[in-house]
Amino acid sequence: MGKLYVVPTPIGNLKDITLRALDVLRDVDYVACEDTRRTRILLNHYEIKGKRLIPYYEPKERSQIPKIINILREHDVALVTDAGTPAISDPGFRLIRACIEEGIEVEVLPGPSAMITALVGSGLPTDRFLFAGFPPKKGTGGFFEELKSCDDTTIVIYESPKRLLKTLNLIRETFGEVSVCVARELTKVHEEFVRGSVSEVIEEFGRRKNIKGEVVILFSGKKLSTSY
Ligand code: SAM
Repeated sequence: MGKLYVVPTPIGNLKDITLRALDVLRDVDYVACEDTRRTRILLNHYEIKGKRLIPYYEPKERSQIPKIINILREHDVALVTDAGTPAISDPGFRLIRACIEEGIEVEVLPGPSAMITALVGSGLPTDRFLFAGFPPKKGTGGFFEELKSCDDTTIVIYESPKRLLKTLNLIRETFGEVSVCVARELTKVHEEFVRGSVSEVIEEFGRRKNIKGEVVILFSGKKLSTSY
């Protein structure tokens, strides 16, 4: 019986991969991945050759599971996604669940995830946080209304840069003048943390002609003292 290794990969800086992740990727015969081209680039970068890549991406998640489970009956498989930790706003959960049901061992390697990197750098309270993934494109107002009871918890969401201003405005409408941090392009050359009240952050991004890259939005309704 094989084992499923869940292997986080860099969210930008290719040096952010653990020695253990590289060992696992070298040792397994099969790698289940979101986009075979992206994973091929990653493996080539670390000079890892001869792997069989199995596509495992959103619309095909369910239909690929029996195939991967069959492979796991004899071989180890590493699960990776395009960036960060599999199963965190990425494919993975269903395969992990299927392995647990089938009695197949699952070993999760710790590693990069945008939400943790953003949370730690945000300067917002880290003692209690809620990761809410991507807000839905439709019904975003209702999504935030549901989170209203958590306004003393740091809320972390993923968002596309195109929707950043719209989402920040919705946060202000729902939660009032909360403290916000937008973590953009983490671990990359243009990494930045834009921190302030929600109005200040809206003003800052409102001045920009276009907002590029990847963003995490964090906010907290907790009254923060300025002294440490
Ligand atoms: N599984 C990944 C993880 O562990 O972070 C998340 C994958 S999700 C499909 C992609 C979203 O994560 C992006 O839209 C963005 O919100 C966030 N993200 C990923 N990389 C990022 C980066 N380098 N800087 C800021 N946000 C990032």
